[in-house]
Amino acid sequence: MLDQERTGRLSGRALPRSKALYDRATAVLADGVTRVTIERDPIPFYIERGEGAYIVDVDGRRLLDLNNNFTTLIHGHGYAPVSEGVVELLKTGTCFANPTQHEIALSELLAARIPGVERLRFVNSGTEAVMFAIKAARAFTGKSGVARIEGAYHGAYDWAEAGQNASPDAQNWPDHPIARPSYRGTPRTVAEDVVMFRFNDVDGVERQLVEAADRLACVLIDPMPSRAGLLHPDPEFIEAVEKTARRCGILVVADEVLNLRQGYTGASARYGLHPDLIAMGKIIGGGFPIGAIGGREEVMQVFGSTGRKTLLPQGGTFSANPVSMVSGRIAMEALTPEEFQRLERMGDHVRRELIATIQHHGAPFCVTGAASLFRIHPKASEPREYRDAYLNEAEAAVMKTLSRHFLDAGVLLPFGAAACLSTPMTESDLEPITSAFAEFVKTNDHLYKELGQ
Ligand code: PMP
Repeated sequence: MLDQERTGRLSGRALPRSKALYDRATAVLADGVTRVTIERDPIPFYIERGEGAYIVDVDGRRLLDLNNNFTTLIHGHGYAPVSEGVVELLKTGTCFANPTQHEIALSELLAARIPGVERLRFVNSGTEAVMFAIKAARAFTGKSGVARIEGAYHGAYDWAEAGQNASPDAQNWPDHPIARPSYRGTPRTVAEDVVMFRFNDVDGVERQLVEAADRLACVLIDPMPSRAGLLHPDPEFIEAVEKTARRCGILVVADEVLNLRQGYTGASARYGLHPDLIAMGKIIGGGFPIGAIGGREEVMQVFGSTGRKTLLPQGGTFSANPVSMVSGRIAMEALTPEEFQRLERMGDHVRRELIATIQHHGAPFCVTGAASLFRIHPKASEPREYRDAYLNEAEAAVMKTLSRHFLDAGVLLPFGAAACLSTPMTESDLEPITSAFAEFVKTNDHLYKELGQ
């Protein structure tokens, strides 16, 4: 059982210390926070410390963390081998204008594990990794367009994010997805260089890629896009993306910033995709900021400067900083094939138990995900694409109540995003997840019985 020191809803009254910090923050930070993704219900809660699979907030609540900084912390919080390695390193300096051996060690590890990664470059975030992968594809092909999946999240580069906020107009989805720039003031030309297709839509992706072949540099694909539902890709869809792209002279860029955590060799290998370039991030930094672009040597040559003008000069003051390199290497070394298998067994167990509860009560929910990732949907049948996973108002309200219910049970369940397990968890840590869900389903049928009708 959880050592729950306090429970209580996320209200300012129940969380006086978080409330006081938030009041201070709103006087100096734009909108009180530094990331739009911070959950507020109605205020954010502030973290005092992390302890392995758990976090403790400033008001003393101890919660099982299924967010893990948006799936980054595969070893949970305060992982000792990383802390010890980094503490040693800190004494000798944190960043230099010269390379260090640490970037070579992490590159060697990734190149040895991830198929198709023959050469690498490091940056500081997943956004940057996706951005430079797109730029590399452009430099290689001489074309500028990007094809991407409706509703998927790929970070904040204009061409990577156009279309991520797709929503139905007056309850109806447009026949063809529209590459709407996500934010006001984005140059209109961005939309001209983005082509959208629907996840698992074989005919659609083939048609879109063929029609725009002469202007597409790459097709950007996350094999199991979390924001678009954390849904399984059909093998035929993966094959169609890859075959059509090859036929049309379009590079395949896999966004594995999140899904690299699906296994020792990453997500593309798992789902039969053979990308030209892979964008990585999150777990490969061991809890410190990182991004990486890896890929075929021939394509990665665009970063090179020997003998001719550099096609793609990529810099970055903190790129390959030794702190991220050392922490990333230590974290990744501990992720052996056996450790990935153990995580996956725990993930399978959670998904199985959640599904058993749903079936037992005939409740309109379903569970998606793979390996250490899962997502609960207030949908009677399993979504196949973003449009199916999209929450209407009533469904969003049910999910909000579900997240609150989990918090009351001592579990931080991310809202509308992938939940994930971490290596410090053992079977006994999983029990609160499955029992909180069972309790919710049993006691809240008045909330959800109209759903999915
Ligand atoms: N791509 C994917 C699939 C992601 O999940 C994320 C982050 N959630 C990014 C790109 C952007 O990474 P970062 O937040 O490190 O910039």
